[in-house]
Amino acid sequence: MISAASARLETMFGAILATRSASGQLIEALADRAFDLFEANIEAQTAHLPPLACQKGCPSCCALRVSATAPEIFLINRYVRKIDAGPAGSTIGLSRRIAHANRATRGLSETERMTRREPCPFIVRGACIIHPVRPLACRGHASFDRRACAQAMAGRDVDVPLSAPHRALRGLIQDALSSALSRAGLPSGLYELNHGLALALADEARERDWMLGTDSLAPARIATDATA
Ligand code: SF4
Repeated sequence: MISAASARLETMFGAILATRSASGQLIEALADRAFDLFEANIEAQTAHLPPLACQKGCPSCCALRVSATAPEIFLINRYVRKIDAGPAGSTIGLSRRIAHANRATRGLSETERMTRREPCPFIVRGACIIHPVRPLACRGHASFDRRACAQAMAGRDVDVPLSAPHRALRGLIQDALSSALSRAGLPSGLYELNHGLALALADEARERDWMLGTDSLAPARIATDATA
């Protein structure tokens, strides 16, 4: 059942790659489809579960490492550039925040990150400023217990009850996207979000190079997925 669903999603991403290959719309089309698939299906998958504790303005889990595919990173890169160029851009200083977070957390283990508790650079006035384009990893990390999240982030050894369907759906979509990218001859790995963004913000050509098949985010690549 899961593999049939996975094959269907991979075909869907494959069709986007076939029709928009190397066009300026490819990044947006892939990432938007991934986010739409998540949002359109998560409610039905979780209707039987108690309500989530996650709410706007709760950044308890937002010090964990976040992984993302290249299309997600390049889409967020565009979003960040727009915010930076907008009226509040210099006040918020999003690129500076990303560079700082990258310097502060690059190469740290999950435990070291939790000890350091460097907040995600996208938390502005208590909320995620990139909420419409936040990665699948963030969408798929959903908790039933706000207190447990806060205690875990404070370094206490507690089990945070997370939503299995959120995690499974995120994995299903992310895997299908990665497989479709790989079949199309494009780099299909996962990258650490802040490091990948710092690279993309520093050099706009990395997006074009990635579309031509070069792993232009390779320095940010992570071997395993253990994300928020
Ligand atoms: S991108 Fe947004 S949701 Fe994800 S960790 Fe950062 S602040 Fe939290």
